[in-house]
Amino acid sequence: MKYKEHFLLDTETAKDFVRERTDFFGTADRLEACEIGDGNINYVFRVSDPDSGRSLVVKQADRLLRSSGRPLDLHRSRIEAEILKEEGRLAPGFVPVIYDYCEEMCAVTMEDISAYKNLRRELLNGKRFPRLAEDITTFMVETLLPTTDLILDRHEKKKRVQLFTNIELCDITEDLVFTEPYWDYKGRNILFPGEEAFVERTLYRDEELHGEVGMLRDGFMNHAQALLHGDLHSGSIFINEEGLKVIDPEFAFYGPIGYDAGNVIGNLFFAWANALCTRPHDAEFLAWIEETIKAVWDLFAEKLCRRYEELVTFPLYTAEGFKKQYLADILADTAGYAGTEMIRRTVGDSKVAEVTSVTEPDVRRRMDEMLITAGVKLIKGRRDFRTGAEIAGVLQG
Ligand code: ADP
Ligand code: MG
Repeated sequence: MKYKEHFLLDTETAKDFVRERTDFFGTADRLEACEIGDGNINYVFRVSDPDSGRSLVVKQADRLLRSSGRPLDLHRSRIEAEILKEEGRLAPGFVPVIYDYCEEMCAVTMEDISAYKNLRRELLNGKRFPRLAEDITTFMVETLLPTTDLILDRHEKKKRVQLFTNIELCDITEDLVFTEPYWDYKGRNILFPGEEAFVERTLYRDEELHGEVGMLRDGFMNHAQALLHGDLHSGSIFINEEGLKVIDPEFAFYGPIGYDAGNVIGNLFFAWANALCTRPHDAEFLAWIEETIKAVWDLFAEKLCRRYEELVTFPLYTAEGFKKQYLADILADTAGYAGTEMIRRTVGDSKVAEVTSVTEPDVRRRMDEMLITAGVKLIKGRRDFRTGAEIAGVLQG
């Protein structure tokens, strides 16, 4: 009853909030709280009882973006809570358990996954995770395929499309991923000095590429295929030797399956390109990351097909012709969206650490060109890739 109107939590009020909203802690427990958010959008608090060592996390959305102060639709918070619950049902253990969602406060209270580390940073540090490809492909197949109306009741699916209509966050993607890298109409792209002519030629003036990106953009906006995470980059994946946890699905919406899979693969390419350019002698890491990219593609294709055969029963969709085309389209999308992700995070204004951390001009330009060239190959050739080895082949040379 206390939380009828939205206000921003702080380390004091966060403790009261979790006591009021959950019975996670005993009433006698002495609680501590700290802010752990490193994103530029929301506020994240960790509340713990130092005596028992138990802890949880509260993620709160504000009306105004944390970084720029610009307003952003609060419905994203409800979307995040709902999809985390759904993903938890479909793929238990792969997302934090949700303890509470407070609509008025736009606050999700969830399992503390601090034992897992940010995959992007771990890869930048040259760490290898033998189970990554296996786990992330299981997560994707188990959470994506069952939310399509090949499997889900079609009335229910349309209700979900409504619930997960995410106008403002999709708008961000439509601009930053699918428009500005090719047509810098807001003047927000940031090009590394000396690569202007290359970007002009390769991205701004290639009409064939524009046509292909147009199709991918249109697919992102109109192909309400499955409930996507919507921002499945390596900073949304937390990992350790035991497994992985996926967080931060506030960009979730009904879109093409290949968008999530493409984000995973595209972001693995950043780790690979960074290592190739900055740690060329780290043979173990280079071999592992290349194998992992191949395995993500191959395992994703294999598991998607197997799960399709297990779950889909509607007679027209069990026909070989439909199944083959449906799965081939998902893989073509996967390649294409991997390409758009690689390009947008190299030239656009939300770059990844693998790119920005390289400051030596020659190395940086070589890496950026390598990533953009590979991205273009993935987009233009997306219908022709058959194996993970072919996908990995785009980065060489
Ligand atoms: P934003 O939407 O602002 O990007 P994130 O969901 O990415 O917020 O969270 C920001 C950071 O807070 C993460 O990078 C992670 O370090 C931490 N974090 C978020 N959720 C949890 C959690 N359930 N357990 C532990 N740490 C978390
Ligand atoms: Mg985030």
